[in-house]
Amino acid sequence: MTEHRDLDELLRVIEGDAGCTAGEAILDAYVELELAGEDPARVFPGTAIHLKSCPGCQADHDGLLDAARRFAGVSPE
Ligand SMILES: [Zn+2]
Repeated sequence: MTEHRDLDELLRVIEGDAGCTAGEAILDAYVELELAGEDPARVFPGTAIHLKSCPGCQADHDGLLDAARRFAGVSPE
């Protein structure tokens, strides 16, 4: 019974998950790095890890990336 809880806490520590709040704060910058061809995981490793395990933040990220790509497409820059 306690095994699941222990594993959950263990994974959280080992993975270095930055959590939802931290991800929301830097998601714009994260997506910008991706669009620039950089590796956002090097700048925001905790959020890169979090995105792999959080469907909610994944959806936010995908939506932001999609919107940013579309915006970049119509921008003169
Ligand atoms: Zn999240």
